[in-house]
Amino acid sequence: MSMPWQLKVGLYNKRKYRRHEPRPIAECLPSINVNDLDIPRDYQTYIAPDISLRFPHISNMRIAWNMVQFAHSDRVQTFNFKWIKTGFGYPRPAFVCECGRSVIKLYFRHQHLGCRTCFNTVYGCQTRNKRGRAILKAIRLRNFLKFKTRMRKSIRQRLRARITVTPSQELKTKRLAHHRIQIPHHNYCTRGIAHWL
Ligand SMILES: [Zn+2]
Repeated sequence: MSMPWQLKVGLYNKRKYRRHEPRPIAECLPSINVNDLDIPRDYQTYIAPDISLRFPHISNMRIAWNMVQFAHSDRVQTFNFKWIKTGFGYPRPAFVCECGRSVIKLYFRHQHLGCRTCFNTVYGCQTRNKRGRAILKAIRLRNFLKFKTRMRKSIRQRLRARITVTPSQELKTKRLAHHRIQIPHHNYCTRGIAHWL
């Protein structure tokens, strides 16, 4: 099969900018989490009508229990699902990326969907040293305490105790200025929906 022109352009751009461009930061790339998809449990194929509201880069999505097709940039990319057995309960799904890896998240870059290894991404915290990581952690925890209004007092105190740096310490880098870097990416084992994600 010949290479789709979008991928060709994407790869050309990737090669062209490799020297100047730092590794992309995973949190800043648009992504699709397999757990956010409504995977059917019967043998029919469904079309998700308003997918572009949720994922602006995707124009159409067809989904069945074993695969999903994303239409974007005038082409279609298909990903199979791998069903990971759990000890109890329903198996957990994962995307099978075109490179063969099973992943929970697919990222969108250079008009292409792929896993974090395909795009050679780093996480925000990987770009910082020990001190920078503590500052980043504190920023995320402070934002979490701000966003999550309903929480038991004891839990709030326990989370606050994990902040080890003072508010005056800031990240001195433009690379992590993107707002998605500074929001908490998990729920810190508390209940309720993480509505800011
Ligand atoms: Zn991959």
